[in-house]
Amino acid sequence: MIIYLKNSSHLLIEQLKLLFKNIVVSQDENDLLGGEVLFFENLKYLPFNPSHLINAVKKNTVNEGRSLKIVENKSQKLLLIKKDFSIDQEGVLPPEFLDGYEYSGMRYFQDYITLNESSDYSCFPMGHSTSEFNYKDSKPALFLDRDGILNEDHGYVYKYDDIEWKQESIDLIKWANSKDYLVFVLTNQSGISKGLYTEDDVIKTHKSMNEFLLKQGALITSWYYGPYSYQNAIEGYKFKSLTRKPGAGMMLQALSDYNIDLLSSVMVGDKTSDGLILLGPKYFHLEGKYDLEDAPGLIIKSLSELHNFIK
Ligand SMILES: [Mg+2]
Repeated sequence: MIIYLKNSSHLLIEQLKLLFKNIVVSQDENDLLGGEVLFFENLKYLPFNPSHLINAVKKNTVNEGRSLKIVENKSQKLLLIKKDFSIDQEGVLPPEFLDGYEYSGMRYFQDYITLNESSDYSCFPMGHSTSEFNYKDSKPALFLDRDGILNEDHGYVYKYDDIEWKQESIDLIKWANSKDYLVFVLTNQSGISKGLYTEDDVIKTHKSMNEFLLKQGALITSWYYGPYSYQNAIEGYKFKSLTRKPGAGMMLQALSDYNIDLLSSVMVGDKTSDGLILLGPKYFHLEGKYDLEDAPGLIIKSLSELHNFIK
């Protein structure tokens, strides 16, 4: 297995070499003779979360038709790239992906697939298309899952009256504020797509939550929610969306909206899917009601453990 990077930054290549000690990371075309290759082009920052990639590679079976697919976000053109890097097929992005959030970068497919069989894949969004990442004057961020972190996860909570706060999350936000971190909430709200409640309900609840937190002296910079899902979804919300964790859409949106030092940032949630498919932040999973066996980040028993990582 070779990871090949074309026109990518030196920093990124050095970082990948550290992460993939047993895998050749190369810019040398001479290394491309035979074997399995992951091909990336024009990367400057924000590569994938390596544990997701490793899992995808581990699960891979021997298949001669293995290939890669690139989404060029501007034209939404798909290119299917064969192992010899010839372009095999071109097409347009299937409608289930057109939720308004842009896909970019590289996707790794376990098997050779056609454009119509797009459901089973691992996607590695590489960065937001709108801006070059500027580390200067950036601040680290604390990204928080909502249900199970800020409040108890009772399943599809959407009324403020049903929010049962977790005090240690309030303490964590205040700690992060005192260390000059930006704090964001990233919450999957598929209940919207299932028709259980509306975006207005979520916005109202977040407004009330924010007011409560401010009274406690805890400041959230911004709240992001992912309203889409693909299973049992109502019209207008049925998308295979990047905004649904472990998709990195909400985090990429925050990166686009604020000047964030991603490599010093922290994300914490209580599900495996809170380890997003984006390399950069440290990912943490709080032990709770969900199975964390395949969680890509570090498992913690208490949010107060994060105080050690926010300095
Ligand atoms: Mg949660």
